[in-house]
Amino acid sequence: MTNEYKLATILAHTGIKSDEATGALAAPIHFSTTYQHPEFGKSTGFDYTRTKNPTRATLEKTLAAIEQADYALATSSGMSAIVLAFEIFPVGAKVVAARDLYGGSFRWFNDKESEGRFTVEYANTESDLLAAISDDTDIVYIETPTNPLMVEFDIATVAKAAHDKGAKLIVDNTFYSPIYQNPIPLGADIVVHSATKYLAGHNDVLAGIVVTNDQAIYDKLFYNLNTTGSTLSPFDSYLLMRGLKTLKLRMEKATENARELVTFLKTLPTVKEVLYTGKGGMISFKVADESKIPTIINRLEVITFAESLGGVESLITYPRTQTHADIPEDVRLSYGLTNDLLRLSIGIEDVDDLKQDLKAALGA
Ligand SMILES: *Cc1c(COP(=O)(O)O)cnc(C)c1O
Repeated sequence: MTNEYKLATILAHTGIKSDEATGALAAPIHFSTTYQHPEFGKSTGFDYTRTKNPTRATLEKTLAAIEQADYALATSSGMSAIVLAFEIFPVGAKVVAARDLYGGSFRWFNDKESEGRFTVEYANTESDLLAAISDDTDIVYIETPTNPLMVEFDIATVAKAAHDKGAKLIVDNTFYSPIYQNPIPLGADIVVHSATKYLAGHNDVLAGIVVTNDQAIYDKLFYNLNTTGSTLSPFDSYLLMRGLKTLKLRMEKATENARELVTFLKTLPTVKEVLYTGKGGMISFKVADESKIPTIINRLEVITFAESLGGVESLITYPRTQTHADIPEDVRLSYGLTNDLLRLSIGIEDVDDLKQDLKAALGA
């Protein structure tokens, strides 16, 4: 599959016709960890599964194509993808990062900072971020839209500012997925995803991806991944391919549902503010009375109280005690992640059932 086809076609065809030996339509799962060499000094291209596995390699072809990138690697989780991307930079590298981040990324940055591995400077807004990039900066890191405040950053502008100072831009594209955003053609040097979320889409596989167009970066990523071993298993690679086939349909339906629910939420007096960018399935909202949050959550029946996002089932998360619990309260409050905020990941259910559920839980 090459980039000459449109996104929906590349996705629907994930992994098909990859097995020339049998003509199997669906990609086979290769569990073998080792591969027979045809003769001394020769290789089939596969030696040991930590280095390269046929099922993972088939998946990685689609991952590169959908992000319009030359190279992709599949890892064991979104966090391992982020760690892989950062660890190609030297000790002491200087990071400028957007403040509103996935809590687990913040936790890791914080740990690395206290070990002296990196220094990290945070910026609350895009203009603060652009101003913080200096000649010393090595890495600029953003999620767009941000999590959970749903603020968009202009990737092309940030990429240009980073490159003008000789820094590399890393973008976490988990929330929009390639359906709404391709950071590589906009100038990002490395794109990471928690593929656990929209890419896999069914809340049953933990996975991460790292993509790049830069061969020198890819070579370092590949070397480190082979060395440290946080690769995606063959079975999980298959599940991720299975999920990718319907990514476009799922994302479009989630957007359609989310738009309708945003309109509805805005009519409720119990809802103080709704944060939504206009596309994707992620909605954050602030409630008028924060003491009602446990009741609201306990009343929901269709929408499940659980952390994570991007699956076919709608979930509600309380970032304060779940995804963002590791961010100290004073830091959270300083950038607007207040205790009255709930986050919804809207799935593909019938929107009337979702609306009814929210009405029963939030209705005056
Ligand atoms: C979930 C998430 C991660 C971490 O991914 P895992 O697959 O849970 O390790 C990173 N970034 C964002 C934006 C996420 O939502």
